[in-house]
Amino acid sequence: MTSASSIKGWCPGALRPMESGDGLVVRLRVTGGVLSLKQAHAIAKASTDYGNGVMDLSARANLQVRGVTQETWSKLIDELSQYDLIDANEDAESVRNVMTSPLSGIDSTALINITPHVKALEDHLKSTKSLHRLPAKFGFLIDDGGAFSLRGIATDIAFEATTNNSSVAFAVRLADEEEIALIRPEDLVKTADALAHSFINARQGHDDQIRRMKHLVEREGARKLFSVIGLETFSVSHAPIDKRDARQSPIGFHRFRAFGCLGLAAPFGRWNAKVLSDLTHFAERHNIRSLRLTPWRALLLPDISEEAAEEALSLFNDVLITNPHDPRLFIAACSGKPACLHASVKTQEDALAFSKLFTKIPQSGIDLHVSGCEKACARPRSSKVTLVGREGRYDLILKGKASDTPIKRGLDPMHAASFLKDMLEGEFA
Ligand code: SF4
Repeated sequence: MTSASSIKGWCPGALRPMESGDGLVVRLRVTGGVLSLKQAHAIAKASTDYGNGVMDLSARANLQVRGVTQETWSKLIDELSQYDLIDANEDAESVRNVMTSPLSGIDSTALINITPHVKALEDHLKSTKSLHRLPAKFGFLIDDGGAFSLRGIATDIAFEATTNNSSVAFAVRLADEEEIALIRPEDLVKTADALAHSFINARQGHDDQIRRMKHLVEREGARKLFSVIGLETFSVSHAPIDKRDARQSPIGFHRFRAFGCLGLAAPFGRWNAKVLSDLTHFAERHNIRSLRLTPWRALLLPDISEEAAEEALSLFNDVLITNPHDPRLFIAACSGKPACLHASVKTQEDALAFSKLFTKIPQSGIDLHVSGCEKACARPRSSKVTLVGREGRYDLILKGKASDTPIKRGLDPMHAASFLKDMLEGEFA
């Protein structure tokens, strides 16, 4: 185990856990976000036996086990290795950063089954040593064009299934650029490899300036980066591809043709081993074969009947978010104090109090980010309102990121709430 949570750009894994206020955080990168019930039981048990039973669902669809100690870490790794949840080494784990459509392989509305492509890309990333020079947070995304689009989720290289001249293709997107290239599905790994190597070569000697693909795109432009590897580009609005509807909330019961699925979210991503264990037992009783992790800090129970979904909604209503209009879904909050060593504010507690301000307000997509510090672990992007902890109080930023200049400084939680309330009422009156 490497122990260096304070290293710049540190991105924890299971083999490189991160020190936090409540012990080590062990992040599991679950391939495709697909947890078999055996794996789910193993994680719930290991979290209780070797951690403090608290878990997080991350915005990268990873599952974090908290409260692990230096003494229990190796036992936890040994245990979870038996369930194919641990990589062979730190490099392979670090580079295997592939986010996928949460219903991959079972979504009847998908344009393509991406499961083999996900596996092929992960295998290639693990086995190609030259790619282990990618920065730890460098990520890939593969969207199957079915339910719960991943469009809008920031990543470095995205492959989004689409139709092109009545065939299925992948639109390739760099960072969040509107200029895309189209490739055949069988060329996904080859294209990912070429783009990733272009990135690695371009940042030689410029590590500080080119940390992610968006920095290279800003410098070179997506058109040039694609043309170097022989791909033609299109602007999204003129590309010969189908246009997709905006993403629907995964929370609640959904029916897609003959297929039902239920989405439940962890409040601010935080849940625990008992809930995972109870959910897994519930899934077993109803012949649900897997749990699906999503980047919306939620999980899906696929292939569920409407009756079983009703039962789950009532069973888990007190511990998970079951309503797509729950105001907590509109708020991102990091671990905060005391779970994080860098925090001086109780972000999760405060976020819960702030969420109550939303109850009489029409939901219109407002987002609030409550961050323990400028590192902004819960949401690196802009939000309508951001509260950033500093010396036990909050600085307030409008339409910006946690590192932007605040319009108010030094608000205690009560004053932050009152300011927020006035602002929300003003906006929605
Ligand atoms: S953003 Fe939150 S979780 Fe991340 S380092 Fe700062 S206080 Fe800790």
